[in-house]
Amino acid sequence: MRLQDKIAIVTGAASGIGRGIAEAYAREGATVAIADLSLDAANAAAAEIATSGGKAMGIAMDVANEAQVEAGVAAVAKAYGSVDVLVSNAGIQHIAPLVDLAFADWRKMLAIHLDGAFLTTRACLRRMVEAGRGGAIVYMGSVHSKEASPLKAPYVTAKHGLIGLCKVVAKEGAKHGVRANVICPGFVRTPLVEKQIPEQAKELGITEQDVIKNVMLKETVDGEFTTIADVADIAVMLAAFRSNALTGQSIVVSHGWFMQ
Ligand code: NAD
Repeated sequence: MRLQDKIAIVTGAASGIGRGIAEAYAREGATVAIADLSLDAANAAAAEIATSGGKAMGIAMDVANEAQVEAGVAAVAKAYGSVDVLVSNAGIQHIAPLVDLAFADWRKMLAIHLDGAFLTTRACLRRMVEAGRGGAIVYMGSVHSKEASPLKAPYVTAKHGLIGLCKVVAKEGAKHGVRANVICPGFVRTPLVEKQIPEQAKELGITEQDVIKNVMLKETVDGEFTTIADVADIAVMLAAFRSNALTGQSIVVSHGWFMQ
């Protein structure tokens, strides 16, 4: 039980990677707040954790909405006392060539990924500083925090930006025992990826099989997708790490697609 008695908030945890991390944290003894757009979906994920013996609650939160983030984090602190771990994971993808990219879509992407990371960080960091028992903040970056791909300008921009935010949080958080790190996964078969396979096939004029083989997994060492469990393992390790020795870092878990 590496996260016994820890209180964790995972954003975007009703689905995909966030959900896998929430489940892994609960298995390690943490009490987990599942924050997502739909309260019903968040509650359903929390209920499933509870049926396997874990402790969880659902909260409705649009991470790009300051009032909702403040209210959601306050509700978790009220219910459980404080917040020890934040996983800033909520995210979406938007596929478009730059010349066709609407300003509204650019702004929406940056709002969810960067405003969301900032707002949830600020709200949770305040609780961590107040409680004086340290903490961990984990950002869900991507190989696209390190590399670019065509058709993903706002996503690549935002994911690179998370590394900058993480480094500042590592520096400001250190004296409070708060560590910040970024996980950078390769492609994981979640709804976010399933949706973009046909979209990329259409934009690039190739088959869906070619998108998987020759776009998504082309640069991996073995042609394999990264899994939710792979990412959750790293998220547990980063949340449980015991000192400031591991902070301000970005860890790539991508079957060798990107090598540092
Ligand atoms: P997903 O679509 O399965 O889950 C994303 C969740 O985020 C959903 O439950 C959605 O409702 C929620 N969400 C979206 N906008 C939100 C908002 N404004 N406020 C709160 N919640 C919101 O996707 P996923 O693949 O699990 O992605 C999770 C994170 O992992 C994202 O940040 C994504 O960029 C990142 N990531 C995914 C992959 C991949 O291949 N799947 C690779 C690298 C990084």
